[in-house]
Amino acid sequence: MEPTSNMPALGRRQLMTGAAALAAAAGLGQRASARPAFVRHTQEAVPATTQASGALALMDLPYESNALEPVVSANTISFHHDKHHRAYVNNTNAAVAGSALEGKPLEDIVRAAFDGSDAKSRSLFNNAAQVWNHDFYWRSMDPDGGGKPEGDLLAAIERDFGSFELMAESFAKVAGGHFASGWGWLVADEEGKLSVMSTGNADLPLVHGKRALLTIDVWEHAYYLDHQNRRADYIRQWMEQLANWRFAASNLAG
Ligand code: FE
Repeated sequence: MEPTSNMPALGRRQLMTGAAALAAAAGLGQRASARPAFVRHTQEAVPATTQASGALALMDLPYESNALEPVVSANTISFHHDKHHRAYVNNTNAAVAGSALEGKPLEDIVRAAFDGSDAKSRSLFNNAAQVWNHDFYWRSMDPDGGGKPEGDLLAAIERDFGSFELMAESFAKVAGGHFASGWGWLVADEEGKLSVMSTGNADLPLVHGKRALLTIDVWEHAYYLDHQNRRADYIRQWMEQLANWRFAASNLAG
């Protein structure tokens, strides 16, 4: 069959139907009012966290726990990865055990729990999305990171922000200005246009039709042991020394 102009819309509806059906089968309440359609972005760079048993696994860090010092210390990581992230994984596994979502890919669990109308759905979304966000955050950092991206990513940044420096300024402003717990993101929309955004608590771009390229965790647990209340210092040093532009480029290309 030849592709037709309405196929993308059909695809979106089918995806929403799939997520809603999965949620219903898992016993999650769904809001009556439909959210805007979202597009599935398979983010190949995100590690597969589903084990053979079907349970989600806490991802291993792609570097030693002291490799990000002094911006992110081993002490911070001992709490952030080993306790906070682990708790999100364990809570998600406990919530889906015995339901239709058990053994499903993490992204499917996040999508099914999004739009939830009851406390059970909201709790599952918060935990599953935080697993996804932290998997993405650890890979958004590189002990040899920082500097400037190259190639297609740099060209896209210069096209959509004017310069790398203007993007970095905007990223710092949006992430630093986010009130309370949340995340700062560099994202691409469906047409590949880049922008920066922040999300609150566990919220994440993939349920808003955006492809995540890079993220910084601005919950206090991410920086308070090392920078106390100086969130702006953490963000600036993170961008200058840790930002993993190769990861961002692979997400843009994927
Ligand atoms: Fe965190």
